[in-house]
Amino acid sequence: MNITYDYIDEYISSLYSGENTLINEITEFARERHIPVVCDAAALLLRFLCARERPRRILEVGTAVGCSALIMYYASGSDPKIVTIERNEDMADIAKRNIARAGLSARIEIIIADAHEALSAQTGEFDFIFMDAAKGQYLSFLPDVLRLLSPDGLLVCDNVLIRGMVANDELVPHRHKTMTVNMRAFIDAIKSDPALDFTLLSVGDGVLLCQKKKVKP
Ligand code: SAH
Ligand code: MG
Repeated sequence: MNITYDYIDEYISSLYSGENTLINEITEFARERHIPVVCDAAALLLRFLCARERPRRILEVGTAVGCSALIMYYASGSDPKIVTIERNEDMADIAKRNIARAGLSARIEIIIADAHEALSAQTGEFDFIFMDAAKGQYLSFLPDVLRLLSPDGLLVCDNVLIRGMVANDELVPHRHKTMTVNMRAFIDAIKSDPALDFTLLSVGDGVLLCQKKKVKP
């Protein structure tokens, strides 16, 4: 389900075309198997943001089969080092193969672990972080993600509107209640942190952008 008018989403999606045949092939492979992969409208945004920021160190939470990692790598144009975290071993194996096929095993490191552990073990700073994992867990990832985000860095969080549920209780079936409540708490935590700037775009499934305030309040 799209969170905005279908014709708007279709039009924006039509503006995205995969930048290389490997990414197109992986995207198709994933969609055929119902493996989650960044939608075209969000991919268009992600690609623009990477091209704009030219990050050197990227952190991704939620690799799946490596599609968004490859999109970010090529769009950055800065030969970034990417650390990407995936807890599902089968998924991570496919991602490893895909990244090897791209010849990028030395640039894109896949950590096979739950993100809570993997994030707490990470050190250093990342100038671009893409959060795209279990939607009920964004809030619990936030402290480590903010610790790892460089002062000038950009945090991009996908699927924050959860097919509209986050904005409208009537859309929330019982089984998605906790996830929705958690996502609202995540958005509230960002909103109420005086050290952060943020915005929420109704692109794809909802994309939240966040940075550390450059001028202290
Ligand atoms: N970023 C990918 C899609 C990721 S789908 C792309 O656009 O190409 C979300 C992935 O996050 C799934 O593969 C899921 O296994 C993984 N995931 C969810 N919660 C996680 C957690 N706590 N730790 C590690 N991986 C997680
Ligand atoms: Mg996503």
